[in-house]
Amino acid sequence: MPINIPAITSTFSCIRNPSTLVPDAIYESFATISKDLSRVLSDKYKQQINIKAIVLDKDNCISISKQLDIYHKNLSKLNELKAQYGDRNVVVFSNSIGSQLEDKTGIDAREFERRNKIPVIRHTQQKPGGYREALTTLLEQTDARHPKELAIIGDRLLTDIKFANNMGAWGIWLSHGITRKYQWGNMFDRWIYRTFLKNRKPLAAVEKSV
Ligand SMILES: [Mg+2]
Repeated sequence: MPINIPAITSTFSCIRNPSTLVPDAIYESFATISKDLSRVLSDKYKQQINIKAIVLDKDNCISISKQLDIYHKNLSKLNELKAQYGDRNVVVFSNSIGSQLEDKTGIDAREFERRNKIPVIRHTQQKPGGYREALTTLLEQTDARHPKELAIIGDRLLTDIKFANNMGAWGIWLSHGITRKYQWGNMFDRWIYRTFLKNRKPLAAVEKSV
């Protein structure tokens, strides 16, 4: 597996600037998230928040790592989100499929789109890097016109949530993801959360405003 340099840099940044890793909302798994994230975030941050597009991580979020199907317990939630936001506004942004580094030819991204009828964003850098390129693409390919109209959902603080905060979007953290088996990355993130982040305000409460 190629080394994700931005994720390593992100690990050190939690010491320098831990706020960039603080999620705006936390759920255990994709199946347990609210489909009405605008209302959840608006209530939490006491401001009008209008989510127009949902950006989903793939591995351990909607699919089991290395598999190209949606995990069966996630299908109904995915359909609820598509009904709520529209098919073009629920997209996948993954460090595996659609990534120039791990899916050079895009064959996995095309197969995932064919099987699951969900757009996969193509990109050249791994999360949390490349957020400017990602934002440009997301604003072109979805109905969102501003980063604050994007909710980014993923199971890793150091990639998904850092990426969301860098972009100025809302970061929704899945603290366990699909599997409850031991996953070192997720266990490490939960330790980071408990040790450095739990008592910090999300950037939403500090500098994101609509
Ligand atoms: Mg993941």
